[in-house]
Amino acid sequence: MSEPIFLQPVFHGKLWGGRRLEEDYGYELPDGPVGECWAISAHPNGDCKVVGGEWDGKYLSALWDEHRELFGNLEGDQFPLLIKILDAQDDLSIQVHPDDAYANEHENGSLGKRECWYILDAREGGDIVVGQRAANREEFAQMVEEGRWDDLLNKVPIAQGDFFQIDPGTVHAILGGTLVLETQQSSDVTYRVYDFDRKQPDGSLRELHIAQSLDVVDYNVKAPESGTVTAAEVDGVTHLVTTPNYAVDRIRVTDEAPVTYAQDWPFLNVSVVRGAGAVVVDGTRYDLPLGTHFIAPAGAGDLAFEGAMELIVSHV
Ligand code: ZN
Repeated sequence: MSEPIFLQPVFHGKLWGGRRLEEDYGYELPDGPVGECWAISAHPNGDCKVVGGEWDGKYLSALWDEHRELFGNLEGDQFPLLIKILDAQDDLSIQVHPDDAYANEHENGSLGKRECWYILDAREGGDIVVGQRAANREEFAQMVEEGRWDDLLNKVPIAQGDFFQIDPGTVHAILGGTLVLETQQSSDVTYRVYDFDRKQPDGSLRELHIAQSLDVVDYNVKAPESGTVTAAEVDGVTHLVTTPNYAVDRIRVTDEAPVTYAQDWPFLNVSVVRGAGAVVVDGTRYDLPLGTHFIAPAGAGDLAFEGAMELIVSHV
């Protein structure tokens, strides 16, 4: 019952994507530019299959429906979180997500989308859009109308290891040359504010959602100036954020300093984002190559990590 549940990622081709998920992480990708690896997901747009072990071949959504004890008997009709790796070769559109209440009312009962980014790699001089500068709805609408994007959008320089919490209502975009580990609510609702007037291969523009964006933007939130992580690292563990939907930690393991992490939560998502190693659970050792993702179920107890690697873990 306590064995780790390893998952097979689902890949999504995107115009803004690249090939780094193959080059840097060794995943076997479909042809063309690939932007998103849905690494731990039970969302209908990308439901991950279990690889190996007792639940081999089952979809994560089915495990959630039929074996809720693995997830600490949490309530809810869908697995609540979604873990992705994004390869943004080109800029993503400027976007904003609704909260649960707005999404439930306007998007067929969908969850809203709170998300956060751990920067896996950034190009020299790279940056990211987080937050906006309009004081209210009218000003925002006017700046969009006049195309004053440099005035409206808050750009922040980024470096590897930075972390950004993106609450619903925060305007944001990942820009080209960035690899990101994203932890988010299991939702696919995005309102596009601006797409740089880019044309799709057939010459058309992607749809924008200005009206919905004006509804959901939080005009009171202050835009951040940096994503530098300031929390202290304690025994290899750095706490990155706690929100109403998830909490996220980074774990750094070295050969000299293995890390034991107590899985006391309903379940724990684990992603190997740098290096490689192994984990010992209940006396059994499992290899963890780079790019491995697994769920430690309820009752897994202590996870003993060894090797030389960096992990991002999350729980509700
Ligand atoms: Zn987003």
